[in-house]
Amino acid sequence: MFENLSERLSGVFDRLSKQGALSDEDVKTALREVRVALLEADVSLPVARDFVKAVQDKATGQTVTRSVTPGQQVVKIVHDELVHVLAGEGEPGELKIDNAPAPILMVGLQGSGKTTTTGKLAKRLTEKNGKRVLMASLDIYRPAAMEQLRVLGQQIGVDTLPIVPGENAVQIAKRAKQQATLGGYDVYMLDTAGRLQIAQTLMQEIEDVRDAVNPRETLLVVDGLTGQVAVEVAEEFDGKIGISGVVLTRMDGDGRGGAALSMRAVTGKPIKFVGLGEKMDALETFEPDRIAGRILG
Ligand code: GDP
Repeated sequence: MFENLSERLSGVFDRLSKQGALSDEDVKTALREVRVALLEADVSLPVARDFVKAVQDKATGQTVTRSVTPGQQVVKIVHDELVHVLAGEGEPGELKIDNAPAPILMVGLQGSGKTTTTGKLAKRLTEKNGKRVLMASLDIYRPAAMEQLRVLGQQIGVDTLPIVPGENAVQIAKRAKQQATLGGYDVYMLDTAGRLQIAQTLMQEIEDVRDAVNPRETLLVVDGLTGQVAVEVAEEFDGKIGISGVVLTRMDGDGRGGAALSMRAVTGKPIKFVGLGEKMDALETFEPDRIAGRILG
């Protein structure tokens, strides 16, 4: 039967502790378990290696080897280190949206949950933060995507920019800015077009939009179940567009959450929110503690 990492570690260390003091070698052996568990949780190899090294430095200290229940202590060190790596600066879910109207650029691959997340976040900003929000779809390639956002807006009671056929993405973004300014909105959210894969022409279009509105936040929406791919996508978008944060969707699925750790370690960008379902209120602020618990099992 599959044992979770906490149990495995406790088992290894408690077994070793019965033999007397722990050697560095013992700790190393046990940390191999940590590495395997991280890889099983879809953490990338270099990130797992660095992580284990950091834990090892802490775990080989006197306090652990002399403690009565070293297993639990090592689990705690691993947990705390996970939280440390996962946590960004500032409060979870904090967004820079002062100076109305603040533009939020939503970017990501098609199917990642970008439009759904735009709606969820707009609802949250409206209901929790008391903001007046305007949403606009810039997906000129898929009229259905524009319609999807309009319907979502109606459903959650958030205004959307009227659809004007024939405009390009930059023109729509500028019109959104104008309407947000004239209409006294606090925030306007731009739901950019996505592709199934990263496409250079689309990146250029998003860059142009970025330069036209100078977003306060550029949030990358990625499917949390895609693991390493999510991290590669984030690196690519960050390199080209420059992102301020990440939203990991489908965290209600069976993924172990390893993508979150790699994401944070590789891109250095904070994970701001997690999507936990298809419903409009299934968006939560990213809590490192909870993800750490999930990786540990
Ligand atoms: P887009 O192409 O990136 O705009 O993706 P959509 O927003 O249209 O979402 C694609 C599908 O993923 C839809 O069926 C959404 O309901 C679903 N989805 C989005 N976020 C989540 C999530 O956090 N959990 C789950 N289970 N499904 C989600």
